[in-house]
Amino acid sequence: MVSRVIPVDAFDLVIFGGTGDLARRKILPGLFRRFLAGQMPAEARIIGVARSELDDEGYRTEARAAILEFAGEEATDRESLDAFLGTLRYLVVDARGEGGWPELAALMRADVVRAFYLSVSPALFGDIAGRLHQHGIADKASRIVVEKPFGRDLASARALNASLAEHFDEGQIYRIDHYLGKETVQNLMAVRFGNVLFEPLWNSHYVDHVQITVAETVGVGGRGEYYDRSGAMRDMVQNHLMQLLCLIAMEPPSQFDADAVRDEKLKVIRALQPVDYHQIVRGQYDAGQGTPSYRQDVENPRTHTESFVALKTHIANWRWAGVPFYLRTGKRLKGRVSEIAVVFKDLGHSIFEGDEKRHRNILSIRLQPNEGIDLQVTIKEPGPGGMRLIDVPLDMTFADALGPERNDVSDAYERLIMDVIRGNQTLFMRGDEVEAAWAWTDPIIDGWQARNDVPKHYDTGSPGPEDALMLMHRDGRRWREIRG
Ligand code: NAP
Repeated sequence: MVSRVIPVDAFDLVIFGGTGDLARRKILPGLFRRFLAGQMPAEARIIGVARSELDDEGYRTEARAAILEFAGEEATDRESLDAFLGTLRYLVVDARGEGGWPELAALMRADVVRAFYLSVSPALFGDIAGRLHQHGIADKASRIVVEKPFGRDLASARALNASLAEHFDEGQIYRIDHYLGKETVQNLMAVRFGNVLFEPLWNSHYVDHVQITVAETVGVGGRGEYYDRSGAMRDMVQNHLMQLLCLIAMEPPSQFDADAVRDEKLKVIRALQPVDYHQIVRGQYDAGQGTPSYRQDVENPRTHTESFVALKTHIANWRWAGVPFYLRTGKRLKGRVSEIAVVFKDLGHSIFEGDEKRHRNILSIRLQPNEGIDLQVTIKEPGPGGMRLIDVPLDMTFADALGPERNDVSDAYERLIMDVIRGNQTLFMRGDEVEAAWAWTDPIIDGWQARNDVPKHYDTGSPGPEDALMLMHRDGRRWREIRG
């Protein structure tokens, strides 16, 4: 159960795309869990909007099915589910047509927070933003939430930013990267900036390198068509891995507020070095273990889109001069792991005779599975026989350390939606951050296209292409194991 819940103000939350996959899998179940936790005020109202011809009852029936399927055990509390469904309304609105907008305007209440979640294709962002203003539905206090993908390159991201900026100030725009809503990601900041222990060591004098891995066992699933136009670089590296890298590498902000944090993240992205093509490996999974190949999954036998990327980059500033950052992500890999590992330098000299191993402290931050942090330390191997040293983890799995009653199970989406209602933008991406991330990504993708680069094949259930292992081996380093 949730330990401490801070109620939010009354709100009208309009979900454009209220019948879509994201609303069904994440947004509605997440809101239901916040309702169960007592965080949603009695006056809160959720208004689903799409073109499908439904009425309030029809939408509640769909929402009930989605929550039963995706909210886990908690959905078995039928009385609460009925009460939650009572907060739902539905309107037929076409983002590109005129129908439904006056009804939406009439439904919105004054004196409550107005938030508009655009869980639709980015191609509709401009239409919706424009009509919200044209019909007087949004005002200067309203908030608008947008989903990834935020553009597919710098030019399209700029165009999206410009279309939103026509009607909304930056302080009203919440660009979701759900990785930032994860408990451990926020804990990363607490660990870095709340302890005296780490900050003195957090630089090129003591850190050998940093590895960030987001490995999935699943393939592209039902998203084949979208994914094949995108690839791992656009789908994962430009946003999620980049955000993790920023939080690891940024300077301490003067305070934990939205602009102070985002200013520091932006400096990191702007200091990222271009990636030489020898320092990046693309891959595509083959058929295996009873599953189809990437090409079969996306039904495109000649595609050169990557389902795997591994790369090495540097941050050109004083703190990180000479420290490589290795990033890797892929599908159909050996295990499902999201982890950041800060690998410290080994001691220059060992006082223990016969101890030839290079012992290293490694701070690893696990986003999944078993959210937690562990620190690898070197100790004496127990027993007689002199000073033999071994490396052991000091493990802090949050669920174990805090006990069940302090282990907040809230999912990233629900946490972020509540931040929108509170008006807290700290965990959302600012427009300039997104553009800077594309400015770094674009030349990499353009380079592949110019060279007609063909991804390396890798086995399903493997750690990725052999060349990705070589990327590290060449530097005398190795990736951390992806456990199956
Ligand atoms: P989806 O399942 O295709 O749903 C799209 C929604 O938009 C439907 O409710 C659809 O309903 C509505 N819609 C389409 N055209 C419309 C129009 N002209 N006017 C009003 N409503 C319209 O897509 P999704 O997977 O939920 O994704 C939504 C957004 O979130 C996308 O930008 C996607 O990239 C992003 N996203 C999704 C996920 C995920 O896990 N699904 C994860 C990250 C990001 P009608 O057809 O009834 O109008």
